[in-house]
Amino acid sequence: MDNRAEYTPKGIAFAPSYECPGGCLHCNIPFDRIDASAELDIAAALRVLREAKAMGLHSFQFVGGEPTLRGDFMVEVVAEGRRLSMKPHRPPTNCATAARPDYLRDLFSRLKQAGFTAGFRVSCDEFHRRVPSENVAAFIVSAADFFDLTRFAIGCCDKNEERSRARLGHVALLMTAMGLKARAGKAKLETARGDIKLGFWAPTRPTWKPLPDSEFIFREVDAGANAENATGRGSPAPITRFGCLGPLGVGYVWIDPDGNARACCGNANLFSDKLIIGNIHAEPLAAIVERARRDTVIRLLAEGGPVALAAETGLTCLLEKKHTHRCELCAAVLNA
Ligand code: SF4
Ligand code: SF4
Repeated sequence: MDNRAEYTPKGIAFAPSYECPGGCLHCNIPFDRIDASAELDIAAALRVLREAKAMGLHSFQFVGGEPTLRGDFMVEVVAEGRRLSMKPHRPPTNCATAARPDYLRDLFSRLKQAGFTAGFRVSCDEFHRRVPSENVAAFIVSAADFFDLTRFAIGCCDKNEERSRARLGHVALLMTAMGLKARAGKAKLETARGDIKLGFWAPTRPTWKPLPDSEFIFREVDAGANAENATGRGSPAPITRFGCLGPLGVGYVWIDPDGNARACCGNANLFSDKLIIGNIHAEPLAAIVERARRDTVIRLLAEGGPVALAAETGLTCLLEKKHTHRCELCAAVLNA
C-alpha cells in the first residue's frame, strides 16, 4: 500500500453549538447522546484561528447545529478571520432564525460590518420538518439587503429531486410576495437581486436512529477504483478509494463545543470517537494535527478513505454491502 498521503486539513470547522430547531429526519447529529446546549468558547476559537493561520491554514467554516443561533460567535470569529486574512466558507443555515427578524437583521448588519461577504449555504429541505418555507424565503429576502445573493447557494437534500423542486417553487412564490421577485430555474434560483446556485443530493443514512431504507439511495463499493477512474460507472456512482483526509480530500479540523478536535467534517464525523484527535483546551492545534498524522486509522483514511480502512483492517465484508455514502461506510468500519 502506498502510504504517502497524510492527513491534510484544509482549515478549521467550528461547531459553536449543536443546538438546532430543524428536526431533520436524516440529521447526522446524534442528539440522543450529545449535549446540544453546550457552547464553544469564543476566546478559545479565536486562539485556534490564530494557531491555524500560523500552521498555514487559510480558511474556516461554521457548522452545527444551526450556526446563526450563535450570532456573537460568528461575528467575532469572522472579524478575527478577516484580521488574519483567512477565508470564511459559506455557513450552512436552515433559516430557522428568520422567525426572529430583528435578531437576524442585526446579525446580518454586524457580519457585514465585520467584513463578511461569503454568503450562506441555505438548506431548502423537505426534511426540515420544523422550519417552514416562509422562513427560507424571509431569510433570503432579508439577506439581500446586506449581501450579494450571487455568493449564496441553496442545497436540497432529498432522494426525490422533484419534491425539492416543488419546495423551491413555493419558496420563490413566497419571496415574490415578500417583495423580491424570484423564480426557481433548473440550476439557479433566479432573483431580482442576482441568481443563487442550486444543488441537489441524496442524504446519508444516520446511524443513531432507525429510518426506512425507502428514504435513501444506496451505492455499491468499487474497492479497486479511485474516484477518477470510477467516473461514469453506473448510477448512482459507486463508493471508491477516495482519500478523504488526504491532500485531495475534504478534511478539516472540526472543533466541537467541548473543545474536542475531530479529523474531518464528513457526515459520520460524530459517529465515532476514533475521529477525535485531541482537545484544543489541552494542547496546541499543531500538536494535535502532528499526532493525527501519525495515527494509523487517520493515515489510511487520508490514503484511500473508508474503503482502504476496511480493506486494511480485515473488514472486507463491509465492502460487499451497499451504503448511502462513503461516510456511512466509514462509521460502519470505525464502529465494527
Ligand atoms: S438543520 Fe442541520 S443540524 Fe439541524 S436538524 Fe437539520 S440536518 Fe441537523
Ligand atoms: S469517510 Fe469518514 S473520514 Fe472521510 S469524510 Fe466521511 S466521516 Fe470523515
